[in-house]
Amino acid sequence: MPRFGGIATFMRLPGRSDPADLDVAVVGVPLDIGTSNRPGARFGPRGIRDESVLLRPYNMATRAAPFDSLRIDDIGDVATNPYNLTDAVARIEARYRELTAHGLITVTMGGDHTVVLPVLRAMAAVHGPVGLVHVDAHTDINDAMFGEKIAHGTPFRRAVEEGLLDGPRVVQIGVRGTGYAADDFDWSRRQGFRVVQAEECWHRSLAPLMEEVRAQIGAGPVYLSFDIDGLDPAYAPGTGTPEVGGLTTAQALEIIRGCRGLELVGCDLVEVAPIYDTTGATSLTAANLLYEMICVLPGVEYRS
Ligand code: MN
Ligand code: MN
Repeated sequence: MPRFGGIATFMRLPGRSDPADLDVAVVGVPLDIGTSNRPGARFGPRGIRDESVLLRPYNMATRAAPFDSLRIDDIGDVATNPYNLTDAVARIEARYRELTAHGLITVTMGGDHTVVLPVLRAMAAVHGPVGLVHVDAHTDINDAMFGEKIAHGTPFRRAVEEGLLDGPRVVQIGVRGTGYAADDFDWSRRQGFRVVQAEECWHRSLAPLMEEVRAQIGAGPVYLSFDIDGLDPAYAPGTGTPEVGGLTTAQALEIIRGCRGLELVGCDLVEVAPIYDTTGATSLTAANLLYEMICVLPGVEYRS
């Protein structure tokens, strides 16, 4: 079948596996009723799957061969609720608790960033508080938005309150832009997070930063959450809350490849909104970043 034919699963995986038989499950979470500005991330999983058909199984930069050593499949989408965010979050948590009960690693295609809260609840239920590599233009630590405790700008505040995160093992990379108050990012720092603002990343390789991040996080379970708006809108315009002065695609690759060796228990790529992505470049980038995440999961073999 040519690449452009057939039903689009992530990287043209079979899409027929029982999660009990897998090491890694690629999961779509179509949801955007947690967004505060432009909606559209409900179409993220479909957009990413469409563009991912171009991807081939071997990583020519790192020689990773993830499909040779791990059982990986696209297991489809979580049935969310487009009318009720609280119910949608409960549905996501229930599905991820089923998946983590099998001991597998989840690779999530969002959906807006609200989806990380129920995923982290399921992760922490199995692993206890986890470390976190969080790439984003925003810290997503608001206490409330329009009085709502659950929204795409609040998940990491809730995660701290619920004891899901190991604060000194958390790093937030790429945050920038305008805030509601000048000390907006300092709440993160008070939790022990390392906050790396985008300006610290400009004009340089992030490989040295990731060396420090690996030392900071060390051993123990860690989750990788990548909001596509961490990238500059020049590279990823298809998202709801873009901010100028962001990371490059090459820096995104350095961050993800720099996670090799960490005990990753799950990862996500969120906030892709294909309706603003006129060329498909945002979804294509997201698909590649998800592939790169799969390439650094524990148990992946590397060819010489
Ligand atoms: Mn976010
Ligand atoms: Mn963001």
